[in-house]
Amino acid sequence: EVAAKAVDVWKIYGTGEAQVHALGGVSVELEKGHFTAIMGPSGSGKSTLMHCLAGLDAVSRGEVYIGDSKITGLSDRGLTNLRRTKVGFIFQQFNLLPTLTAEENILLPLSISGRKPDQAWFDTVIETVGLRDRLKHRPSQLSGGQQQRVACARALVSRPEVIFADEPTGNLDSRSGAEVLSFLRNSVRDFGQTIVMVTHDPNAASYADRVIFLADGHIVDELHAPTADAVL
Ligand code: ADP
Ligand code: ADP
Repeated sequence: EVAAKAVDVWKIYGTGEAQVHALGGVSVELEKGHFTAIMGPSGSGKSTLMHCLAGLDAVSRGEVYIGDSKITGLSDRGLTNLRRTKVGFIFQQFNLLPTLTAEENILLPLSISGRKPDQAWFDTVIETVGLRDRLKHRPSQLSGGQQQRVACARALVSRPEVIFADEPTGNLDSRSGAEVLSFLRNSVRDFGQTIVMVTHDPNAASYADRVIFLADGHIVDELHAPTADAVL
């Protein structure tokens, strides 16, 4: 079963001499229940590919699917709805709302789309990220590692088709980073969550079961676990 796929996706920025082919015909299928890392040098198109897959950026050519739904050509309203219901995001800068508590941040995607959390599932997520005693804290009262775990819980609580993580450990010390990566890997193993992570850190990528390498807007190589662990 495919959780997301790109079919011959091109992304071209600018026009004339300033034109940049950020993606030059990328096709990839992301299987449900897998943890895929996208690696590659700076400027190779990692963020662009993730943004196109997540419906944050329109493609110049080609098609993107989330689950069975083709998202290419959706209206802005359709894309917003998709982002609210079918995908979760984890960012390098955590992107938590400073005036809300950890709990309110975690429940925000559900409350925005008018859904009620399933209490048992909420409890499971909170236990898994180890935030039980931090739910009433605001982001400024939490360490970086704790803030990113709040962001992980926020992404997971709505059971999205895919979680997109953009350099999720880029602002963390190695211990907090390892906690976040373990959580991501466990949510794949225990809950069948599908995760796509952009990273330039080989250690972070070693938590994934598949690593895709980009260069100049093309997929140039690919590793699968257990090879990924061994090689990186
Ligand atoms: P990576 O995430 O691997 O560092 P990006 O996807 O950010 O790469 O960028 C791929 C290429 O597209 C780069 O050459 C970058 O300069 C260019 N690019 C990215 N975003 C824009 C934009 N908004 N306008 C113009 N060029 C862009
Ligand atoms: P963790 O390893 O869980 O990320 P730390 O060992 O960095 O946490 O921090 C220990 C405690 O100190 C945390 O439980 C948190 O409440 C508090 N703390 C850490 N960093 C900050 C910060 N920048 N602002 C406020 N409180 C913090």
